[in-house]
Amino acid sequence: MSFYAAPIARLIEEFEKLPGIGHKTAQRLAFHVLDMPQEKVDKLANAISEAKQKTKFCSVCGNLTDSDVCSLCNSEKRDSSVICVVEDARDVVAMEKIREFKGLYHVLHGAISPMQGIGPEDIKIKELLARIRDGNISEVIIATNPNIEGEATAMYISKLVKPLGIKTTRIAHGIPVGGDLEYADEVTLAKALEGRREI
Ligand SMILES: [Zn+2]
Repeated sequence: MSFYAAPIARLIEEFEKLPGIGHKTAQRLAFHVLDMPQEKVDKLANAISEAKQKTKFCSVCGNLTDSDVCSLCNSEKRDSSVICVVEDARDVVAMEKIREFKGLYHVLHGAISPMQGIGPEDIKIKELLARIRDGNISEVIIATNPNIEGEATAMYISKLVKPLGIKTTRIAHGIPVGGDLEYADEVTLAKALEGRREI
């Protein structure tokens, strides 16, 4: 039994399916939409639909793109001999924001997780190896997440890539800026120590 008219109940239900949206927030969003002028609601609905329709995964790196090959793979300014391996297309955005990296990416679309039944064949490792075999790659930087799954994935990839004679590096993970050593978990602290460099 719903207290709402059917279309409103349905809208709340759809919002609730989104990540991080609980019932109360879903309700608030639904009522907000109902308060908006029709024209703005149509614009929002179209933006959602078009974003989904017009984006796909780059056939080379797996990044989200609205062109055949993404703008990064297509750029002549990028160093195509260095590939940074990430788990998710969002990680490409995070890396690009720091404006330090000038190479290309490879998006795995996940990480190895025996607990969740995700094996190496379920993520884009095959595609990475094919790229390495096809091109003149000098370095593979593994930037998977600093958690159990990310570390397992990094280990797995490095075992496959290193024997090909290609420099394989892992980004150093440390205490977040503003973080407190005391509250850092062991993995973070161990990694911070491991990734230390001379100052
Ligand atoms: Zn690409």
